[in-house]
Amino acid sequence: MEKIKRIALVAHDNRKKDLIEWAEWNAPVLLQHRLICTGTTGKLVEEALLKKTPPEEGLPSVITKLKSGPLGGDQQLGSMISEGKIDILIFLWDPMEPQPHDVDVKALLRIAVLYNIPVANNRSTADFLISSRLFNDTYMPVLKDYSGYITRNTF
Ligand code: PGA
Repeated sequence: MEKIKRIALVAHDNRKKDLIEWAEWNAPVLLQHRLICTGTTGKLVEEALLKKTPPEEGLPSVITKLKSGPLGGDQQLGSMISEGKIDILIFLWDPMEPQPHDVDVKALLRIAVLYNIPVANNRSTADFLISSRLFNDTYMPVLKDYSGYITRNTF
């Protein structure tokens, strides 16, 4: 991954306040990267970062908003990870409430592990990630070799 990271930001409703506070606190760093968000999270992050952007610079152009999570946004992110288009996932999911799209959440977390991208599921880990010296440097995640799986004999 390059120095400028493509960072996915997602938060379930009960965790959005946490993520927005975190994004506001880290706005100077985040504005130097690219942010890819599920729909509602992206709208809130955009509003928060706008407050931290000098008026002459206008709306932060660093944010891409996908569909809302339960409407396919988590799956869009999973697809982007498999295509090498996401470097880091910050996903504050709710440990106390079942979600209508729980299967999508599980799929997203699985694909993030499969492609060995850094993932934060709570604010402390997000703090550790963003303060890592690797956050602003190039980095090449080691990928497990699945060629044996692809060429397996299925008959
Ligand atoms: P949202 O989706 O940002 O559109 O609320 C988040 C999620 O539940 O995955």
